Amino acid sequence: MEYNLDPADWEELRQLGHRMVDDMMEHLRTVRERPAWVKMPENVLQDLRQPLPQGPQDAADVYEDFLRAVLPYNKNNIHPRFWGWVQGGGTPFGMLADMLASGMNANVAIGDHSAMYVEQQVLDWSKEMFGFPASASGILTSGASIANITALVVARNHFRAGVKQKGVRAVEGQMIVYGSSETHNCVAKGVEVIGIGSDHFRKVPVDTDYRVRTEVLRTMIREDREAGHLPFCIIGNAGTVNTGAIDDLEVLAVIAKEEGLWFHIDGAFGAIPYILPSFRDKLKGLQLADSLSFDFHKWLYMNYEVGCVLVKEAAIHRAAFATSVNYLMQHERGLSAGPETFTNYGMELSRGFKALKVWMLLKEHGVQGYARLVRQNLDQAQYLAKLVRGNGELELLADVPLNIVCYRWNPGGMEEEELNTSNKEILMRLHEEGIALPTYTVLHGRYAIRVAITNHRSRLEDFDALADASIRIGRDLHITQ
Ligand SMILES: *Cc1c(COP(=O)(O)O)cnc(C)c1O
Repeated sequence: MEYNLDPADWEELRQLGHRMVDDMMEHLRTVRERPAWVKMPENVLQDLRQPLPQGPQDAADVYEDFLRAVLPYNKNNIHPRFWGWVQGGGTPFGMLADMLASGMNANVAIGDHSAMYVEQQVLDWSKEMFGFPASASGILTSGASIANITALVVARNHFRAGVKQKGVRAVEGQMIVYGSSETHNCVAKGVEVIGIGSDHFRKVPVDTDYRVRTEVLRTMIREDREAGHLPFCIIGNAGTVNTGAIDDLEVLAVIAKEEGLWFHIDGAFGAIPYILPSFRDKLKGLQLADSLSFDFHKWLYMNYEVGCVLVKEAAIHRAAFATSVNYLMQHERGLSAGPETFTNYGMELSRGFKALKVWMLLKEHGVQGYARLVRQNLDQAQYLAKLVRGNGELELLADVPLNIVCYRWNPGGMEEEELNTSNKEILMRLHEEGIALPTYTVLHGRYAIRVAITNHRSRLEDFDALADASIRIGRDLHITQ
């Protein structure tokens, strides 16, 4: 008998699978009843520092290992009081969709099969959501980081003929990228990866609302040109990671046009409220971008991982990545026919079927369901901001244009340094006590507890609990000091 990896007893595995689904549904149903975070005990960590397994182990036993050592110590971005970094919570139906995708195990690189068409459908829906023309192109990525790098490659290769083949040395002079000082770090990393170097990412200063100062951007471009440099790309922020600031995208589009620069928008989460007609005014200019990145796994609450980049001119996108190699030649018929290979639009060849969950979830809730949740999160952010403003012991550290609230405990009479250490301590205790999972940033030297609300499970009472606990812990600290 040949050896293979299918179960010896299908019935047994089927039952285990049913149990897994039941357990996980129950886990998700009751997530609110458990602490927001549980630190991994030392003995459990030992379970995850074992030598390479040599022989087989029963699947049911492996599942027991998972239940003991993995599941209870989740990062818990599924929890109603998770507001850390910018992370979505996923959904039970999304989990099932991922299971189906994994069962099909389609490699969505090339060929005439359903997954290719599902991804195309999802890309078409994405264009519709953000006001991009049907003729635009796009590709699903692991997230906005890779979406941003993909766009940077397109911008770079489009800048001058020969860059794709000869590299950035094909141009005489130093190519320069511009974005506000609040631009996400992954853009600077992308600028490094594409051979420009982070020294040539100009961090344009921001105003008091953390929005890019467009007149300074103009000056910087002029000075760079005078110095013989080659400006080629502007990054606009639709929702900065620190405070949710939205750059003046319309003005950036004008500058890019006047200067002949590529205009990319990082809208990882902040582009999403574009689906709310009432919010569209605050994002005006979004549809003017040459390319746009956004995530499904953040503010559209889809299961990790899936992001997307859209490029307005499909031919430019294609030209940046297309290659012709004999093993990817498209045929007229058979599995080797079908839509154009996705590898002509990005770096990856093998790609999972991320599109399935997006397709199923958009159908399940409709864009109106998402719009309602995004509105709910925006309102929750204003609710928390109001709680903070109305409390003498809490201080709001930045405006709340979107879904991010930065605050600190500040009862008055304390030095900045002491406030910083106290608030860091408050944050760690909020986590350790399993109360809530905001994270942090530093704004003008002030340590801020940062609450990014991309959570479809949060309720108003959760924000009351956060504010109360922040004050309680702050007072405790002060008394025991
Ligand atoms: C999260 C984030 C990114 C990176 O996205 P990933 O999906 O984590 O790769 C980029 N830009 C902004 C503004 C973000 O919030």
